[in-house]
Amino acid sequence: MKSLTPKRQLVLDIIESSDQPLSSQDIFSLKEEDLNLATVYRTLNYLEKNNLIEAFSLFSESRGTVRFYFRKSNPHLHFFFCQRCHQFTPFRDCSFSQKAQEEIEAKYQHKIQSHVLYFTGICRACQVS
Ligand SMILES: [Zn+2]
Ligand SMILES: [Zn+2]
Repeated sequence: MKSLTPKRQLVLDIIESSDQPLSSQDIFSLKEEDLNLATVYRTLNYLEKNNLIEAFSLFSESRGTVRFYFRKSNPHLHFFFCQRCHQFTPFRDCSFSQKAQEEIEAKYQHKIQSHVLYFTGICRACQVS
């Protein structure tokens, strides 16, 4: 594929160097030079379409539905999202078994290529406060 424009490369670098999924607003608020919100949106769209990053949408009462972007990682990651403090906790191991995936493929005759899974709730720190 073609090499990325500097802005696309910049946004990709931000996502790849983060342990947390980031929203377009998060990336925008990092205040990198001449990166306006419209550019961030367009760039994230481009990176997602070209399969350079992963993304999922998540609903929380305070923020509504927000799309989050994170790096294509090896090992494959899943996340816990705290609904109170909005922090993500990545899980290194995939708890969604190969067997469960094969059962879904057999049942629906679909070919699964990837999956996104996250948990939401209240994190340990927020439970005590
Ligand atoms: Zn929390
Ligand atoms: Zn998984």
